[in-house]
Amino acid sequence: MAAPPPVDDPGNVKVVVRCRAFLKREKEKGTQCLIRMDPATQKTTLLSPADSDNPNSRKIYEDKEFTFDKSFWSHDMEDPQYAHQEDVYRSFGEEFLDHNFDGYHTCIFAYGQTGSGKSYTMMGTPEQPGLIPRTCEELFERIQQEPSPNTNYHVHVSYFEVYNEHVRDLLTPRTTPPIYLKIRESQTEGVYVQNLTEAAVRNYADVERLMKIGDMSRTTAATKMNDTSSRSHAVFTIRLKQITHSLLSDETIERTARMRLVDLAGSERAKSTEATGARLKEGGQINKSLTTLGRVIAALADPRRQNKNRRTRDVVPYRDSVLTWLLKDSLGGNSKTAMVACIAPADYEETLSTLRYADQAK
Ligand code: ADP
Repeated sequence: MAAPPPVDDPGNVKVVVRCRAFLKREKEKGTQCLIRMDPATQKTTLLSPADSDNPNSRKIYEDKEFTFDKSFWSHDMEDPQYAHQEDVYRSFGEEFLDHNFDGYHTCIFAYGQTGSGKSYTMMGTPEQPGLIPRTCEELFERIQQEPSPNTNYHVHVSYFEVYNEHVRDLLTPRTTPPIYLKIRESQTEGVYVQNLTEAAVRNYADVERLMKIGDMSRTTAATKMNDTSSRSHAVFTIRLKQITHSLLSDETIERTARMRLVDLAGSERAKSTEATGARLKEGGQINKSLTTLGRVIAALADPRRQNKNRRTRDVVPYRDSVLTWLLKDSLGGNSKTAMVACIAPADYEETLSTLRYADQAK
């Protein structure tokens, strides 16, 4: 199997921020917007609540400024600046697909508190599809356009969730008690989930059907177990295998790329102080995954790591959580990673914590 050529572009971690629209009840309450975004500079400013309630009052907190690769103003649909699902996809989706067709892995994940727009950004709604359906749709459009006539394309999809450091297949029927899958590592496969369903898909309709099955499995769990979906990380994976037969050299070249699209657990769970017993354990596990992921991304974004020195590479703490261990191949090396930091327009403390988390990943 031919290894893809090395990538020269050192900018393999992209961090963007997206502010969601006010919900109906927030609008009805006349909630003040605490976010300003400047499209010219990509600067995001978080305003202190007192400052926006009454410009003459003393600020409770300080205003904070952050600059990311891109800031998406999805706050007011009437606003000409409103970033649609298509805009978010176009900002890195196309580029990431190019990378996959070149044989490299990619990873996109949505971080933020529950209700900040992570699922909207990743999965979206039937009317407003998010990054996952758009990526799949364009993938098949490209394949159908036959970019390379001597190439056969094989696409597989899997969908699992990580809850309390356990992995559950979202494409198999739920059982009680749940079946947790084992994680294995091999020379050829790297890190993988044993017995995970990897469904062969031939077109976008096949993927749509699987997305529905997986989402239903997540939602059923959520109603049964009091909103599990905000407490688990959902990982949607597309595996693209290209087998090219070169007529010139009579050689067969095989390339496999994985796209990981991750809807993370709500970041607020990580620091809940009132939790006891099972909830405390759960909060701790979410904390472990999210802090480890933050450390991994920060290590990868560090320019000193670009020298690909083996000794420094070992410092990346992939093994400290199940999520990062499983995402290892999609995060380091020649992979491209994007983090969408999702924020609500009127929550100072949670938003500050999300923006700080995103800032360390730059
Ligand atoms: P999370 O997955 O972070 O818990 P959701 O994606 O469920 O949050 O979003 C919470 C609510 O906000 C949903 O009703 C969703 O439709 C709405 N929403 C999120 N982002 C946007 C946006 N950019 N524009 C309009 N509505 C949004």
